[in-house]
Amino acid sequence: MRMYDLIEKKKQGRSLTGQELDWMIAGFTEGAIPDYQMAAFLMAVCFQGMSEQETTAMTLAMARSGEIADLSAIPGIKVDKHSTGGVGDKTTLIAAPMAAACGIPIAKMSGRGLGFTGGTVDKLESIPGYRTALPEEEFFGIVNEVGISLIGQSGELAVADKKIYALRDVTATVDSLPLIASSIMSKKIAAGADAILLDVKAGSGAFMKTEQDALALAQTMVDIGAGAGKRTAALITDMNQPLGRTAGNAIEVAEAVETLHGNGPADLTELCIHLAGNMLWLADKGELSDCLAMAKATLADGSAFQKLRAMVQRQGGDVSYLDHPEQLPCAPAYAVQAEQDGFVAAMQTEEIGAVAGMLGAGRERKEDKVDPAAGIRFVKKIGEPVQRGETLAFLYTNRPDQVAQASERYRDAVRISSAPPSERRLILERVCKE
Ligand code: URA
Repeated sequence: MRMYDLIEKKKQGRSLTGQELDWMIAGFTEGAIPDYQMAAFLMAVCFQGMSEQETTAMTLAMARSGEIADLSAIPGIKVDKHSTGGVGDKTTLIAAPMAAACGIPIAKMSGRGLGFTGGTVDKLESIPGYRTALPEEEFFGIVNEVGISLIGQSGELAVADKKIYALRDVTATVDSLPLIASSIMSKKIAAGADAILLDVKAGSGAFMKTEQDALALAQTMVDIGAGAGKRTAALITDMNQPLGRTAGNAIEVAEAVETLHGNGPADLTELCIHLAGNMLWLADKGELSDCLAMAKATLADGSAFQKLRAMVQRQGGDVSYLDHPEQLPCAPAYAVQAEQDGFVAAMQTEEIGAVAGMLGAGRERKEDKVDPAAGIRFVKKIGEPVQRGETLAFLYTNRPDQVAQASERYRDAVRISSAPPSERRLILERVCKE
């Protein structure tokens, strides 16, 4: 086989066989196929696309390019959850303990924030003492004992994806649906769960800016999951404004705790009930409506909060910060005021994520450190009335030199109109194979 011929075949719009894709991914992973040939192939995919079978075959080859986590030491149906990323998305901290409180073992590896999106591992590390790196035996032990463990990605999962993603980043080949889908799903399949729930965000703070693109990505990923023998479902959810009332790290942990006590913002609570309910449904706990009711009950009876607390304690975290979230680190606050009367009509959410980054809550490069005390509290969200001089948001930062510019960017990212905008839905679609 020659890589030249495979590039030519894709350039002509023909489909590669599973054998060809296996050979290509293995060759690229071990360095036998050079970057320039892979880059040419990726560009051909951008123009010609890939069939469902090809996308699945490439995803499986990428999943096999590194370790595949073996979760068989944990009894029960393991369900993973993945969000395509957004601003203020702390749902894993809430939905995963909710599902665990209903008896589903949660053995979840999460990521760090990058660019305008946050990451669960950074948020968890704002709880003093919490360990996100655990040896495999301890990870499994905590899941079997407590019912849930949330850690950072360990081991070398989907090695080919790491190499391909780095190449896509510098060759303008990131925005191809089969490449995005195979990248995400190769890592999810390698993470070893039996079933996968995807939260595909759509809007100004998401990778996919339109509902239509998000739906196409969700359908492709659900097909890949099914092709890999994993029960997979996806929710398409709105990311045209930040989720909940906070973005940052410690500030999001505090909001997650409030939500687990049943006192969270309506949008965040609703989404977490749907995510946890769908995780239960994937684990065969019953009809979806019953699963949603079971999930909701874990907020009212406190069992989901107790799951989070037990996990944090077992992983070395100081639970007094969960019992008294007001003690979590919080940087000095600066109010951003509205310059006109009206209603909040739109929030440029990617830009708001970038403002959170300026304040110290995010990172531009993988090596950067995040400040757990930095973040934003959204006082006014879409549809809410506002008067000139009223506070739109509080910015929390230990970088006072950034405040003037960050405030201006925040104000520019929020559009105020004289009439209230039309009502918007949070959960736009649900995609599954059955
Ligand atoms: N996230 C990923 O992991 N891969 C992509 O290609 C895009 C988003």
